[in-house]
This record gives sequence, structure tokens and C-alpha cells, in this order.
Amino acid sequence: MKIVVATNNQNKIREIREMFSPLGFEVISQSEEGIDIDVEETGDTFAKNALIKARAAAMLTDNYVLADDSGLCVEALGGKPGVMSARYAGPDATDADKINKLLKALGDETDRRAKFVSAMAFIFPNGDELMTQGEVSGVILREPRGENGFGYDPVFFSDDLGKTFAEADAEEKNSVSHRGRALAALYAELTKRELK
Ligand code: IMP
Repeated sequence: MKIVVATNNQNKIREIREMFSPLGFEVISQSEEGIDIDVEETGDTFAKNALIKARAAAMLTDNYVLADDSGLCVEALGGKPGVMSARYAGPDATDADKINKLLKALGDETDRRAKFVSAMAFIFPNGDELMTQGEVSGVILREPRGENGFGYDPVFFSDDLGKTFAEADAEEKNSVSHRGRALAALYAELTKRELK
């Protein structure tokens, strides 16, 4: 089956494609489906924002739609940047700007626990909706390490991997990541419905 991923973030599409293609799903981006929208994420939770994005795309296609909303929640910052992770250092900030702002905000804080969260919203052509969520825990390092990945990966030291997400290759990251876990939960739900 064809799944339209409701995002313009190429990194996310690549990760979702890497996970779902081997399982026989054709994964395409919303722009490949001719959908040109940039939806305002007004929700105060990852789940609400994922649903907002999925519903907007589902209005414009008859295929299955998948949207994710994700971000980094840092314990000592009361869960920030959270749903603001993408815009944490302003609308045009680079990944390096966001990391710098995060490291400044944490300063010498010794409690550096954090988690990435991913909420997935999946919409069937008949309008049915499925939601799943995945999390991965780690700590925020004092300086970036590694060249892979995107976003906050260079400062996120994964408890599961024993290295930063930017030091991990794509397969390693997918095997433990918030998105990987939310997608695995989604895949389990889909197979229950015999849609595979
Ligand atoms: P979204 O597009 O609203 O879900 O934005 C999520 C933001 O959270 C991204 O722009 C990144 O800054 C951050 N983020 C989400 N997932 C990851 C990840 O796997 N690695 C690093 N940063 C991430």
C-alpha cells in the first residue's frame, strides 16, 4: 500500500522509508503526492500536532496518510523545548543554533536527563484514525559529538546505544529511536488489521 507522509522534512521521510520499505510499503512524501501545504502546529501535545498534520493531508489524498510530530523534552527545563523543538531558536535557526541555545539554557546543570518523543497519526482512506507514541531516553552532553543524523542528535547521548544519535548509523538509530518505536507500534496495529 501507498503511504503519504505528511511532512516536508526529508530527514523524517528518509527514516520512515528506511523502516517501512523493507516491509513492502511504498512511502512517499506529501510533495511527491502533489500536496503543497505547510500546516500551523497549534497543538500543545505531540499527538495533537501529529493529528493536525495528518488530517490536513488526508483532505487532499485518497491514500493512507502518516504524520509524526516529535521533539526533545529535557527534564531540568521542565520538558522544554518539547513541542517547540523545531522553532526553539526562532523560525530560521539552524540545527547548530538550536543546540547552542539548549546548551546555554542547561548551563552547568548536572541533571541532564532528556527524552525524544514521537507521536504518529495514521489515517485510513475511510477516515479511521490510529495514534501511537514512542520515546527514547538519554542525557544531553556538554558539547556535540558525531556527524550523522539531524537536529539535536549530536548532543543526545542515547542510554540504549551508549553513544550520541549523531555517532550512530541510521540502522542503529532507527532500532531504538522514538520514531522507530512509534512506527513499530503503528506497524503492529496495522498488521492486527490485516492491512500489511
Ligand atoms: P517537528 O517537525 O515539529 O516534529 O519537529 C521536530 C523537531 O524536533 C525537529 O526539527 C528537531 O529539531 C527535533 N527532533 C525530532 N526528532 C529528532 C531526532 O530524531 N533527532 C534530532 N532532533 C529531532
